[in-house]
Amino acid sequence: MTDAERAEQIMRFIYALRSKGVTDPAVLRAMERIDRGAFVRGIFAERAYEDTPLPIGCGQTISQPSVVALMTEALEVTPRDKVLEVGTGSGYQAAILSQLARRVYTVERHRPLIAAARAAFDALDLHNITAMAADGSFGLPDQAPFDRIIVTAAAEDPPGPLLAQLRPGGIMVVPVGQSDTVQHLIKVRKLDTGYDYEELRPVRFVPLLEGMATD
Ligand code: SAH
Repeated sequence: MTDAERAEQIMRFIYALRSKGVTDPAVLRAMERIDRGAFVRGIFAERAYEDTPLPIGCGQTISQPSVVALMTEALEVTPRDKVLEVGTGSGYQAAILSQLARRVYTVERHRPLIAAARAAFDALDLHNITAMAADGSFGLPDQAPFDRIIVTAAAEDPPGPLLAQLRPGGIMVVPVGQSDTVQHLIKVRKLDTGYDYEELRPVRFVPLLEGMATD
């Protein structure tokens, strides 16, 4: 692909995100800078700039770019923030967050996906991401509290340990619902007096599973 073709592809990609309702300039800049092609392999790499989920191994998928952008926008990340992502998958969402946050911790129950995500972060020179193999339904107590938490697998309810690891004033974005029905993206704000819940949009994610995967 020539430089001109690549520039054209990125322009179309950003245009598609805007047409899906993404407006935050910082989020759009991050989506423009991070090459989604670095997070998909083999025959799927040439479809990296389509607004569609794609297989990444271990039976998992990289999320649709417009969903990544809208979730990132909802998270209202600032440059001072320490962010936790549950469900590293390909690492693409973590890479987008790395452009907006001070530090990103990301956890995944499939070890091979963590290895591939780390290689992609190194290839793109992203040095403020810590990727770890762990069951994220319990969060990451050693690094808590977090300013922002994003869950990229669907829970039946916002997980209690994650709510507990959110700093007062913090925001969590999490898909909530049964795995085979419609789920809703929920934005939770932790207030001094309790939690404020806002329902954003219907989404479809794989379920948040307990325990490490065996691969
Ligand atoms: N954010 C990813 C896409 C995530 S797909 C990306 O940008 O590519 C959801 C991921 O959540 C899957 O890889 C799945 O293995 C992982 N997952 C599910 N339950 C989990 C848990 N309890 N802890 C950590 N990861 C989990």
